Amino acid sequence: MTIVGERKITVNGQTISYIIKRSTRAKHVRLEVGQETGLTVVIPSFYKLKHLPALLESKSNWILGKLTRYGQVQSLSDEKGPKSGDTISYLGRNLEVVKRQNRRNANSIKLERSRLVVAIGSASSRLNLILEQWYRMQAAKLIRERANKLSARLGLTYNRILIRGQKTRWGSCSYKGNLSFNWKLIMAPETVIDYVIIHELAHLKEMNHSKRFWELVAEHCPQWREHKKWLKDHETELADKLSR
Ligand SMILES: [Zn+2]
Repeated sequence: MTIVGERKITVNGQTISYIIKRSTRAKHVRLEVGQETGLTVVIPSFYKLKHLPALLESKSNWILGKLTRYGQVQSLSDEKGPKSGDTISYLGRNLEVVKRQNRRNANSIKLERSRLVVAIGSASSRLNLILEQWYRMQAAKLIRERANKLSARLGLTYNRILIRGQKTRWGSCSYKGNLSFNWKLIMAPETVIDYVIIHELAHLKEMNHSKRFWELVAEHCPQWREHKKWLKDHETELADKLSR
């Protein structure tokens, strides 16, 4: 095995440095995360390095999860994220985060009226990561459901829906017809989420922000200006919540 070098990649706002090793015996790319060594990427001899960033990005949740467990991703610490007793926004409502110890070795989150009860199984699990996972899951479920309904209403079809953690955008639409949405949208009221979905769906027809585009949005979402303003007003606040 030969060491190719050390590289850096930024995923989900986290900069991770890793060591690349080339192995003649490896048939696939192998990711190793060690307590002391951090991330090591073992690549087969024929593998082209330019493919690596995309591959690492697709595995970013796994990598960050491992590194966090070993305490190697510093800003992922609980000190930065919400603590028990803090309020957190969910579908435009303020919920109180209540942290409990789970006797079984598993994490669970339950929404009880205005409280989000997080039962944490093992001592190493971090509250903000568990919350993020739950938020991502709820976001994926709701956004897929709503996009399905709204696309039928607009008579437009999309290719795929991706839930991402973009730093600066709520949603985007690609030329291939893939719609991406920020999981943090789940903190906004449903009407605002619908607006973002309608906005991206409208891009399937108008790939710009022309007058025709906004007319199409207004046709299906007359209050769009209000929702757009809501997002602008809450941008920093939502980006900071659960930030890592
Ligand atoms: Zn747009």
